[in-house]
Amino acid sequence: PFEKSKGQHILRNPALVDSIVAKAGLKPTDTVLEIGPGTGNLTKRLLEAGVKAVVAVELDPRMVLELNRRFQGHPLSSRLKVIQGDVLKCDLPYFDICVANIPYQISSPLTFKLLSHRPIFRCAVIMFQREFAMRLVAQPGDSLYCRLSVNVQLLSRVSHLLKVGRNNFRPPPKVDSSVVRIEPRKPLPPVSFKEWDGLVRICFNRKNKTLGSIFKQKRVLELLEKNYKTMQSLQLTQDAEMGEEKMSADDVALLANMVEDLSMETGDEKEDDEMEMDDADMVGGGAASFKEKIMGILQQGDFAEKRGSKLSQVDFLYLLSLFNKAGIHFS
Ligand code: SAM
Repeated sequence: PFEKSKGQHILRNPALVDSIVAKAGLKPTDTVLEIGPGTGNLTKRLLEAGVKAVVAVELDPRMVLELNRRFQGHPLSSRLKVIQGDVLKCDLPYFDICVANIPYQISSPLTFKLLSHRPIFRCAVIMFQREFAMRLVAQPGDSLYCRLSVNVQLLSRVSHLLKVGRNNFRPPPKVDSSVVRIEPRKPLPPVSFKEWDGLVRICFNRKNKTLGSIFKQKRVLELLEKNYKTMQSLQLTQDAEMGEEKMSADDVALLANMVEDLSMETGDEKEDDEMEMDDADMVGGGAASFKEKIMGILQQGDFAEKRGSKLSQVDFLYLLSLFNKAGIHFS
């Protein structure tokens, strides 16, 4: 009866369900968002924890029926609201805290959808596939440190809570799992997320190459020069640029639309013939001087010999500010 395509793996270890609920630090005033309640094992414990309300979003109509049957006439059922739908497509209700054992195929878009929801929630305690969880918490220099790590950690503090073996589920999935806590940063750092992600994407395209060699690529230089010229032709004043650097709710909402699965990025070194050729030098004086401008910025911050895989949040913020100050933009 369980559908693989919907990631239906039911938690069958009550002690594990209890420790997930305990780690959530629920308050009596909390409205809890649960995603993918399935047959309701976690839902039941959330209700019993004495919260104000549980709003559960479930895609599968059969599961919704089963849930309603299970909680019918239950003394706590007035605190439960089940919404049938795809959590990625529906408008999320207000919630203080999110607790969920999710279908793993929606991990990345769901994480960014939650982080772009307003008003911002207090905390999310979510079961992810182990590797995705390790990417979320990875630090500079760790082999799993990637664009996902950097982007999620810009917006939140992430911590690993529990390792969960596959046999805690029925049917058992092919991979192990981990429960992670995500606490949105308040306030959010004052950067444009589009700019931030544009820079991080470039730095992680070949995360083990030096920034000096990455920013020498023709493709990268052409993109940055195009942005540069667009900016200049718009005659943006210094003031307008400053205003743009704040992170607005709209800006973060873009995140929710990042459909590509960041978690699957391996940071593999794709071969690129253009790379070592320095073709920009040959195109003419304009291109060469733009390249010099970029190299100058990298050197100014001592970044030319550094690698994306080793850069911290502070390093990326500093690098972005150097570029922006020189009128170089990533979106
Ligand atoms: N929470 C239950 C438990 O721990 O036993 C079930 C968890 S199961 C891993 C994931 C649940 O999410 C399934 O019930 C599945 O039908 C539901 N689901 C899958 N895709 C969904 C989506 N896009 N939106 C909402 N629910 C979804």
